[in-house]
Amino acid sequence: MTTAVQNLIDGGWTGSPGSERRNPANPSDVVASYPSSGREDADAAVAAAAAAQPGWAARTPSARGAVLMDAADLLRTRHALVARDLVREEGKTLPEAMGEVRRAIDVLRYFGSAGWRLGGDVLPSSVPDTTVLTRAEPIGVAALITPWNVPIAIPAWKMAPALISGNAVVLKPADLTPLSATHLARALTDAGLPDGVLNVVHGPGAVVGDALARDERVGALSFTGSTRVGLGLHGILSARRARVQLEMGGKNGYLILDDADPAVAARIVAAGGFGLTGQACTATSRVYCTPGVRGAFLTALAAEAARVVTGDGMTDGTTMGPVVSQAQLDTDITAVERARAQGASIPTGGSTPDGLLFPPTILTDLDHDTDAAREEIFGPVITVLDARDYDDGLAKINDSPYGLTAGICTNDLTRAQHFAAHVQVGVVKVNRPTTGLDLNVPFGGVKDSSTNTFREQGPGAVEFYTWSKTVYIGTN
Ligand code: NAD
Repeated sequence: MTTAVQNLIDGGWTGSPGSERRNPANPSDVVASYPSSGREDADAAVAAAAAAQPGWAARTPSARGAVLMDAADLLRTRHALVARDLVREEGKTLPEAMGEVRRAIDVLRYFGSAGWRLGGDVLPSSVPDTTVLTRAEPIGVAALITPWNVPIAIPAWKMAPALISGNAVVLKPADLTPLSATHLARALTDAGLPDGVLNVVHGPGAVVGDALARDERVGALSFTGSTRVGLGLHGILSARRARVQLEMGGKNGYLILDDADPAVAARIVAAGGFGLTGQACTATSRVYCTPGVRGAFLTALAAEAARVVTGDGMTDGTTMGPVVSQAQLDTDITAVERARAQGASIPTGGSTPDGLLFPPTILTDLDHDTDAAREEIFGPVITVLDARDYDDGLAKINDSPYGLTAGICTNDLTRAQHFAAHVQVGVVKVNRPTTGLDLNVPFGGVKDSSTNTFREQGPGAVEFYTWSKTVYIGTN
């Protein structure tokens, strides 16, 4: 069944289908049609948001939170249906999609319940009979631009802190995944979110996203996507001194030390590198082994890859779905062929794809300065490299333009603590995959992975969507 997705502007579903999205596992399945919107649609959405925002902000935080909690309940009743559409639209396996929808539900609950806790500080003043307090004021209109790889949870984890703190929102979802964003928006409107408080505009990023970035009424823009696009947006938002939050690419490194159990390390690396078809910003994509563990680790990693079952994510037993699009497949193939030309051995995978199914692939015998060791691929490709010792491995992980996540496998607590303190990334995992995040703790990166100012998720997520006002109250 094809769903006709529309824009949501001022509470009305508008726009006629101009583009379609097909199932990456089965191209004859047209999952959704959606409008290829223009700048005028972005303009109408921002106008609706600006008009609706004061009324929404005037509600108590707990009343705003009640809408988010009701939306979570609705999404819970639609959980399986939404997850199945997510599999058809993006290509994840059904368990991966169920987990992502679950995350969106939990995010709505987490920030919905924050409506009972939001507040500022009360501080002593140096002036007699005076109290100082701080208020967190909403920015006003927040624009959210999101990627295709986590198409319901990322919009949720941006939208929920924006809404609970009294902002109105315009969401520009990725072109490849219009339906998942629509399910989220429907849950919120069905839960009673007032017209105009959430608007969704589908269409090309260079048109709709660019229009949102340049609109003076948009006070804050939160973006997740590629570093190239993110840095362009940074220039636009900074030039007009609007608030901007960017979470971008990664080239996440893992260090395996001699004392690690190679089978356990391989399980951890395979989960981080092949899970979600390697299409995660936090995916493990380069692994440094010290000499004593390298051989056994490579054997164990090849065994993990051999256990992967590629196929349609809806089929029982599939553990890795297709890549999202022909363009992403071409990127994966080009990266592997370039690595081969640069001298890589390819003990596993790298063979001709079957449709959009790409095999889990291991690259070895490359130097640290080759493309496969430095550039984000965003596919199920793990590059295994050499580290002379712990210090060499740490230095090589840090020698990257990116700084999103990193991990270390060791039972040496001193080394693990040193690694956590000195690795230049936003999220560190010890004996755990680089992927997999809790929603109640901060998330974000450093260097070219992030603006590294305001973090997403956790209690601090609302800070990006609010500004602090200091109030002195004297009694005469
Ligand atoms: P992308 O940068 O191509 O697109 C992201 C969003 O930006 C889409 O909605 C797109 O339509 C829009 N866009 C494109 N050009 C634009 C422009 N000129 N102006 C405004 N908006 C524009 O990224 P993608 O291919 O959708 O996602 C993959 C990338 O996202 C990878 O690099 C991955 O690492 C990154 N990612 C990062 C995180 C994180 O939290 N750090 C999470 C998920 C994905």
